[in-house]
Amino acid sequence: MVKRVLIANRGEIALRIIRACRELDIETVAVWSQADESALHAQLATRSLCIGPARAADSYLNQEAILSAALATRCDAIHPGYGFLSENPDFADRCVREGLKYIGPSGDVIRKLGSKSAARSLAREAGVPVVPGSDGALKNLRQARSLAEAVGYPVLLKASAGGGGRGMRQADGPDGLEQAFQEARAEAAACFGDGELYLEKLVVDPRHIEFQIMADTQGHVVHLGERDCSIQRRRQKLVEESPSKALTPALREEMGRAAVAAAKAAGYVGAGTVEFVLSPEGQFYFIEMNTRIQVEHPVTELVTGIDLVKEQLRVASGLPLSFAQEEIKVSGHAIECRINAEDPEREFVPCPGTTTFLHLPGGPGVRVDTALYTGYEVPPYYDSLVAKVLAHGSTRLEAVRRMRRALEELIIEGYPTSAPLAHLIMHDPDFVRGRYDTGYLDRNLDRLLELARTCDQLMEGDDKQ
Ligand code: ADP
Ligand code: ADP
Ligand code: MG
Repeated sequence: MVKRVLIANRGEIALRIIRACRELDIETVAVWSQADESALHAQLATRSLCIGPARAADSYLNQEAILSAALATRCDAIHPGYGFLSENPDFADRCVREGLKYIGPSGDVIRKLGSKSAARSLAREAGVPVVPGSDGALKNLRQARSLAEAVGYPVLLKASAGGGGRGMRQADGPDGLEQAFQEARAEAAACFGDGELYLEKLVVDPRHIEFQIMADTQGHVVHLGERDCSIQRRRQKLVEESPSKALTPALREEMGRAAVAAAKAAGYVGAGTVEFVLSPEGQFYFIEMNTRIQVEHPVTELVTGIDLVKEQLRVASGLPLSFAQEEIKVSGHAIECRINAEDPEREFVPCPGTTTFLHLPGGPGVRVDTALYTGYEVPPYYDSLVAKVLAHGSTRLEAVRRMRRALEELIIEGYPTSAPLAHLIMHDPDFVRGRYDTGYLDRNLDRLLELARTCDQLMEGDDKQ
């Protein structure tokens, strides 16, 4: 088993990894930027060291500094978490060249799947349905035009290097194509340093359904069921749940088989996620594979009882998976709400600030993953995710009720968060019925916020009486 792991990340995911290591008697080395001296991950690891200035490019993305820290502290492995260097194939290769185990798939596998247009081809060759669209990258606007005619509008222009919902534009007809093409290319170049685009037909009113997979170096590949991540704002996930109301047992089995086939075709090792869109007619299409632990992985942990981070550490140590496909049982229902330091009233603009007061929910069936504490100042340099609140129940409605009361117990003071919006979603009849698709939040946001404002006004009136 690995003995000492450097965690090349921060925030709640760094804590999550420290916790798994502790339970396995593995030592941890945390790295922190100058903005994170008082961050919890720097306090809770066995050792911790500063790797540079606040800017991510100078610290959490600084490969040299991270590798030197790992070698200086005699680590034998590096866990990249999510974001930052977690999907950088060169970093994975460099770790291995320095004699360190990289907790994730090999650089070659990350490279193969990191280009979303190449991943499409790989999935198609493995017999997994992909959205109708381009065969590899687009050469120019003219080719985009003829492909869009062939598959039919609306279409999406997507960055091959894309992630986090960025570098993607929709064209509803020939008139909008050029603008979508230019905008997607410019955003892709600015965000990812790579303007390569591909084209997909837009699946209308789909659900985002993804499968957690796990593979070991002995060649076993299993899936741990799905997560429904259709509650999204600007193509970024806000609420996730498992199981999905949209799947029948037969469809679940078919999609799970497809996810495993895609992972096998890539020679996958470790934890990964195969993402699909599912049309209202029940047709599913591969969209991408994420080669890392995902933000929403605890949803799967709650319903399967499997610790995915411990399993990652086992696999990186060369041990086989601790379970076979038929031993994985999904029990009850789990929901996650991402709590971001941002203002839903102002187009979700990030609102970092000082946490003047914090109270976290607890009790039966509630899990909170966070690196917050009272007095902690959320730095403006990184992701706005500050907490993940999860609820597990024996039925979906019990999970919904638990999530409602967990969000009522949660107090974060000092900056606006997405928690009140999550609470409203938990009371929306369409959500409670499980009837929603990826357009749900865009369609309902104004109505939900208006509802909240009206309630606030009524309460204020009552206060005055
Ligand atoms: P996915 O949609 O693939 O599940 P996640 O929501 O888990 O992706 O986030 C993808 C990665 O991108 C995460 O590692 C997260 O830290 C990062 N990320 C998410 N949103 C943003 C953003 N707005 N800007 C930069 N990075 C982001
Ligand atoms: P990212 O790499 O940014 O996570 P994805 O390709 O996973 O990008 O897509 C992000 C989201 O965009 C999906 O969850 C879904 O809501 C939407 N989306 C992507 N491709 C399609 C498509 N072909 N049709 C409809 N919606 C799509
Ligand atoms: Mg995605």
